[in-house]
Amino acid sequence: MASQHQVRQYLAYWFQLGKPVICNGGKDTLLPRSVIQGDRYSPEFDTCWEKIQAIDAGDCYLEGTITTIAELLSPAWEITACCRCTMPVPMPNVGMPPPTCPCVDLPDWPNTEVPMPRSPVNSQILLQQIRDRLRQTSLPFNQNGNQNSQTNVDLPDVVDDIVG
Ligand SMILES: [Zn+2]
Repeated sequence: MASQHQVRQYLAYWFQLGKPVICNGGKDTLLPRSVIQGDRYSPEFDTCWEKIQAIDAGDCYLEGTITTIAELLSPAWEITACCRCTMPVPMPNVGMPPPTCPCVDLPDWPNTEVPMPRSPVNSQILLQQIRDRLRQTSLPFNQNGNQNSQTNVDLPDVVDDIVG
């Protein structure tokens, strides 16, 4: 069973390659022009995600797949990496995998010369991770009562100010 987070990421990755979501019995397609804005999903992407849930997630699926968004959120399905291109793809927990990856009709894919689709990078979390790593490296100095530890102690406080 894929989490909401995984399904959003799955759609975000394929949107970045220009794959739309088909909905309303094939009548409509959804494809936000921008997917990522800074360290989060774009408002356009969020609107699209809300629409999918408002319409009926059981009637929305990524072009090139047979798996609806509602099915992905059910225990019968997982999201795994395509063996050809490593993009996230639907995979049933039981039975045969779908015969093709949505990438099959992308002529220039996989393409190692262009950046892979990505998730938003949260610089706040990155900074916190750096701060925590600095804390850990400075810890032994403090425990030993080393007087030269002053600079090591100051550093995380400075990072604290940046992180807020
Ligand atoms: Zn693929």
